[in-house]
Amino acid sequence: MKNKVLLMIADGLGDRPCEELGWKTPLEAARKENLDRIASWGSSGIMDLWQCGTPVGTDLGHMILFGYGLPDYPGRGPIEAFGEGLELQPGDIALRANFATCRDGLVADRRAGRIRQGTRELAAALDGMQVEDVQVLFKEATEHRAVMVLRGPGLSSAVTDADPKKEGLPIRPVRPRDGSPEAERTARILDRVLVRCQEILSQHPLNRKREAAGLLPANAILTRGAGQMPKLEKTAEKYHLKAACVAAESTVLGAARLAGFDIYTDPERMTGNLDTDIDRKVELAVKALADHDFVVLHMKAPDLMGHDGDPRGKVRAIERYDAMAGKVLEEIPKLTGFNLILALAADHSTPCERREHSGDPVPIVVAGKNIRKDQVTEYDEIHGAQGGLNRMTGHMFFQFLMDYLEVVPKEGN
Ligand SMILES: [Zn+2]
Repeated sequence: MKNKVLLMIADGLGDRPCEELGWKTPLEAARKENLDRIASWGSSGIMDLWQCGTPVGTDLGHMILFGYGLPDYPGRGPIEAFGEGLELQPGDIALRANFATCRDGLVADRRAGRIRQGTRELAAALDGMQVEDVQVLFKEATEHRAVMVLRGPGLSSAVTDADPKKEGLPIRPVRPRDGSPEAERTARILDRVLVRCQEILSQHPLNRKREAAGLLPANAILTRGAGQMPKLEKTAEKYHLKAACVAAESTVLGAARLAGFDIYTDPERMTGNLDTDIDRKVELAVKALADHDFVVLHMKAPDLMGHDGDPRGKVRAIERYDAMAGKVLEEIPKLTGFNLILALAADHSTPCERREHSGDPVPIVVAGKNIRKDQVTEYDEIHGAQGGLNRMTGHMFFQFLMDYLEVVPKEGN
C-alpha cells in the first residue's frame, strides 16, 4: 500500500534539564501519553538540524526539514516575503519594512504608533509602483510590519538599511555595501522608491483620517535586511512530491511556500500560541492528507515558552502538543487507501535557561505499521538518544522520510 507521511513539528521543543522541574527537561516532565505511544510504535533518535552544536533559526530549521541546506538560505527578507504570500522569483530583492511616522524630515515613530488598521489599503497604494525599470511589490504583515520586493534586472542585496533604528534621526540614505554596479543601482533605486512611498502615503486619505483622529500618520517606509532570492528548485518539484503545510506562523508558512508546499492555515482559529485551535489544525492536516503525500503539522507554543524562560509554561505547551498528537491518533483508523507514517521532530532546541535557540540535538521519531520498532517507548531527549535512528542530521532525516515515499532515485544499478 502507498505510504504517506505526516510530520509533526514542535517548534523549539528540545531543552536542557531545568531546576524548576527537578532537573528534568520540559519534555521529560510533561504528561505526554500520546507522544510516548507514537515513540513505542516506531524508531527514535536525536537530530542535529544542520550540524552538531550549531543553533539554527526557525526559518533555516524549517528549510532543512523541507529538504534544503544552509547554502540555500536566502536571508530573512525573502522568507518573510514568502510568508506573507509573495511568490519571489530568482533575482528579486526582498526587504523587511516598517510603516513609520516622519515629521520635518526626522523619524518621529519607527512604528507609526504601532498602527494596526488600514495597513492593507496603504500597502495597496504602494504595490505595483515602478521606478526606472524596477517594479515594487509591497505587502502588509502584522501590525506596523510589511515586506517590500524589488523586481527587475541587475539588482543586488548588498545595500544598507534605511531604518535609522532610532527615533529623532532622518531616514538613512541607502548605500551600496560593495563596489558592484548592481549594488550602486539598487541603492539609488531604493532611495527613490522610499521618497515615492512618502509622497504617496502622506497624501493617502487614511493618513488624513488618522491625523484628524489624533493618531500618528503612517507616512513613511523604513527598510532593512535586504536579501536576494537565489535560484532554488522547489522541493515539491525536485521530488515530484505533493506536499502541504498546516501552520499559523508566517515564517514557517514562508519556508513551506518556498519549498512549493500547499498552505493550510486559518488566521481566525490558529494563533501560533498556546490558545491555538488544535482541532482545526488536525482537521486541516487530515484534509491535506487526502491529496498530498507529505503533510507537515506545526505548533509554535513550545518555542515561545523557551524564549520566555518558562519551564512550566513549556510543559503546558508540550501537553497541548500531546493533545494534538492524540487527535491525530484518533483520526488514523479513519484514513483509508494509504498507510500513514507518523514522524515527530523539532526545528531546533530553545532551552529555557538560555531563552534563545541552541545547538542541542532534538528528539525525533518515525512510526508506523511498517517502521522498525526499537526499545524506546518514551518521547524525550534522553530516551531518543537510545533509539534505532541513532543521531542524524536534518538532511538525513528528510531523506529518510522521502525514501518511504519512494521519490529518491536508486543509485547504481
Ligand atoms: Zn523555531
